[in-house]
Amino acid sequence: MKVVLNLAKKEQKALFVIFGGTGDLAQRKLYPALFDLYKRGYLKKHFAVIGTARRPWSNGYYRDVVRSSIDGMVNSQSQIDEFASHFYYQSHNVNDVDHYETLRVLADKLDQDYGLEGNRLYYLAMSPSFFGTICEHLKSQGLTKTTGYNRVIIEKPFGHDYASAKKLNDEISKYFPEEATFRIDHYLGKEMIQNIMALRFGNSILSAIWNNKMISNIQVTLSESLGVEERGGYYDTAGALRDMVQNHILQIVALLVMDRPDSYCAKDVRKRKVETFKALKIYSPKEVAQNFVRGQYGAGKDMVAYREESMIAPDSMTETFVAGKLEVDNCDMAGVPIYIRTGKRLATKATRIDIVFKKDDDSLFGGQGLADNILTINVEPDTGIDFTLNTKKIGQEFATRQTNIGYRLTKEQVAKVPEAYERLILNALQGNSVNFTHWDELEYSWKFVDAIRNAWDQEDLPVDYFPNYACGTMGPQASDELLAKAGHHWIF
Ligand code: NAP
Repeated sequence: MKVVLNLAKKEQKALFVIFGGTGDLAQRKLYPALFDLYKRGYLKKHFAVIGTARRPWSNGYYRDVVRSSIDGMVNSQSQIDEFASHFYYQSHNVNDVDHYETLRVLADKLDQDYGLEGNRLYYLAMSPSFFGTICEHLKSQGLTKTTGYNRVIIEKPFGHDYASAKKLNDEISKYFPEEATFRIDHYLGKEMIQNIMALRFGNSILSAIWNNKMISNIQVTLSESLGVEERGGYYDTAGALRDMVQNHILQIVALLVMDRPDSYCAKDVRKRKVETFKALKIYSPKEVAQNFVRGQYGAGKDMVAYREESMIAPDSMTETFVAGKLEVDNCDMAGVPIYIRTGKRLATKATRIDIVFKKDDDSLFGGQGLADNILTINVEPDTGIDFTLNTKKIGQEFATRQTNIGYRLTKEQVAKVPEAYERLILNALQGNSVNFTHWDELEYSWKFVDAIRNAWDQEDLPVDYFPNYACGTMGPQASDELLAKAGHHWIF
């Protein structure tokens, strides 16, 4: 694999147009990410940001909002003043065509003032129902008629099933080609998720054993300790399957089981991911019942049940937990069960991957039983890798014990790790889409998820089926039973 490392710390010249500039995502993630890029020298003199939304804010007020969103990250007053001076606010209703003319005039002026060479990045931090309209008007009102690049960054959710995702994609792709469309999955911007490829393809000892002869099963857990918080309105229409499995979990699974790409570039990595998604077995309703488990949290100590959360119907049948067994029919991994699990109000907040290897023959040790060899990739909050081996128990007798070889990023290293949004925005500026989701990956992942959703929708569950797990546990018992059927158990 030829590794193409884009380490050039080159200043990026661009205009950012942030639709939804007054919103939560912009304030909590985007402005801090832009500031980090500024501190690291990727953004210097030649950048400008237009924040747009309907609220009639002034530039001064907008800059104060930006300042407060990066409070605590700043080294000096002059640094924050200089950074904030690049931000401009334009009140704009995305449905109003005339507003794009005002936006174009401002964009052209900033392009001249800051020497941006016509490079534009449109960040759609808004409801996807507006994406088609925005893309259409950016094109029709001439905002994209520049000498530089015009790229669009899109947030999740990308549709709620295959049909709606395709419709959305058709609307966007009329105006922005695939190579100019950057669909964010922020898990792909996480340090330890990006480490999967380094581990798998940078170590001969691992690539040699990364197959169905040596791997017993793979486990991916994305567990959250929080409930739905203030996202109830959206979450109740989505559920854990659409909110977490269709995107983050399937992307992680693809990185774990895909064949080795020819190079570390978007085209080759995407090719392998798409092959993996195509090889993912789509289940019949009967197979869904055998291989998938859903749950909804009930009340716990000082915590209300999902059905008592604000904006949630008291008889909601939305799942807040999913566990499943996936099968990928590619030659190296055929037959290896891939267990996935995600849920809210679970015992702890953690993202981790456990690769469980097949046990060795223990006859040499008198059949005393050997522990599993497990490679654990701790994504968060712990950041590092564990590998468990069997070693000799200290003492006269010849017995084995499980020993862990662990690697953790130090505090200093963790401090240097770029935030997912910072990394992904830089990738988009560089035109590097290796860590973004492409349409064909989405297409197959939605088809896989739709089969499960449709099977569930056909089941006539009684209202009292939920809740079926208590806050602070690791989900319903059926999730443990799913693995037990195959003689496996959750490692975490
Ligand atoms: P939000 O806080 O509700 O922000 C929505 C933004 O859209 C606001 O700035 C709002 O400003 C603007 N807006 C609404 N209607 C408009 C219109 N007709 N014309 C112009 N502007 C309009 O939502 P958010 O949490 O930032 O999320 C934005 C998108 O990112 C959503 O698709 C969400 O699913 C996704 N996302 C968010 C997060 C997160 O952490 N927040 C994480 C992942 C994905 P005005 O009211 O002033 O117009």
